[in-house]
Amino acid sequence: MKAFIRELQDRVLAGGEISFDEAMRLASIEKREEGDLLLDAAHEIVKRFRPSQPDLCSLINAKSYLCSEDCGFCSQSSRFKTGVKKYPLLSPDEVLQAAKRSEANNIQSFCVVTSGETLSDPEFERVLETFRRLSAETNLRLDGSLGNLTAEQIRKLKKAGLRRFNHNLQCSREFYPSIVSTHTYDERKGTLDFLKENGVEICSGGIFGMGETREDRINFAFELKEYPLHCLPINILNPRPGTPLEGQAPMDPFEAVKTIAIFRFIHPKANIKLAGGRELNLGAYFQEKALRGGADGLVVGGYLTTDGNPVEEDRAMLEHAGFADAGKRNCCMEPTATQTTP
Ligand code: SF4
Repeated sequence: MKAFIRELQDRVLAGGEISFDEAMRLASIEKREEGDLLLDAAHEIVKRFRPSQPDLCSLINAKSYLCSEDCGFCSQSSRFKTGVKKYPLLSPDEVLQAAKRSEANNIQSFCVVTSGETLSDPEFERVLETFRRLSAETNLRLDGSLGNLTAEQIRKLKKAGLRRFNHNLQCSREFYPSIVSTHTYDERKGTLDFLKENGVEICSGGIFGMGETREDRINFAFELKEYPLHCLPINILNPRPGTPLEGQAPMDPFEAVKTIAIFRFIHPKANIKLAGGRELNLGAYFQEKALRGGADGLVVGGYLTTDGNPVEEDRAMLEHAGFADAGKRNCCMEPTATQTTP
């Protein structure tokens, strides 16, 4: 296995790719010593392909709960009694105020997030106006996570100042129907296709630990390969009370960090961020292992409906893991807010 890992590492470092079967062989690693070799190799790939890039961002949950979809992991679905805060779409003024607070705190990027798979026409017009105002009245880089959009809507948002769009594919095509019945995998991918065609930067990742198999996770990594990802957030299920997955058994942390390392072999240039559920599932020890084994950033400051570690603790962990420019590798969230963005 040692020679195999080395061979793949050398290939990726030279600009080559690994195959599905090779990724599955890596996924079959059970011995901790071999897992550590895999993580070391993934870290070498980070060092080669992920030079420091400024990436300090904040987020506002501009519409909470009230979603008619049935994603089994999500506490914002109105089909589940989860007790999360609910409110309709915020006004442009309310979002602008939050953006200006972020700007005053030296944050460079600001992401507008809404619950729900699609926005109604009036909601979309309101969001468009919000982006126009943010463009005119701040110097922030503007990102969005607004569910499925048409190509026309993406073009309008881009014209209004949208730079990057978060749209998580969540898991493999094969596993998707096990967690969602109200929309299809291809609908999710359709939005990613529109983003790609229109030159909008793509942030897309997903969630481990929903009951999927190893093969599902590797299939998922290869589905994401169709897109030029700037950012690949990895959530690990934090089972929320009231959701269908509330009783899901926790994922083995070694399996999680090993898989993140394999994702690095498959996505050598993406900003792979540990996101929701990392504190619960990985603890400090395995988070740091992941940051020394393929991941190169954190979503910090809490998630849409759950809290995270204090930001300073996360910065210290990043620095301890060897990221000297820790302040620039995070993605901070306004603490208003699911475990994962829609
Ligand atoms: S993930 Fe998005 S679409 Fe699915 S239930 Fe949650 S808010 Fe709705």
